[in-house]
Amino acid sequence: MAGEPRSDCLFCKIVAGEVPATVVRETETTVAFRDINPQAPTHVLVIPKEHHPDAAALAAAAPEVAADVLREAGEVAAQEKIDDAGYRIVLNTGAGAGQTVFHAHAHVLGGRGLEWPPG
Ligand code: IMP
Repeated sequence: MAGEPRSDCLFCKIVAGEVPATVVRETETTVAFRDINPQAPTHVLVIPKEHHPDAAALAAAAPEVAADVLREAGEVAAQEKIDDAGYRIVLNTGAGAGQTVFHAHAHVLGGRGLEWPPG
């Protein structure tokens, strides 16, 4: 069923506390933790606690939780003090776009210059 935890999902295991993570924020519906392979001085992932395979599926099934993820991305940026300089929220969607973990997540990147267009 949409939103149910999956035993084969790394990020569901982080939500359950079965895999350790450096959590920087948590709400009733979301968890934010540091990316294990940071691509910028600040690189935090914001995930819904519910399992959805990508951001589009999350928005279709649970739009209020998708909004929570985006709100939390902004809160992370403020907490990490990267909001004044500007930061990037990235939603890789599909393997062809570089998605490697198929549990919806928003990357929050900042603390360095960010080029456009991204690679
Ligand atoms: P994607 O490539 O957009 O799917 O992003 C997945 C991200 O998860 C990558 O940036 C990985 O570095 C990150 N990642 C994978 N495993 C872990 C983990 O155990 N803890 C924190 N981040 C992880």
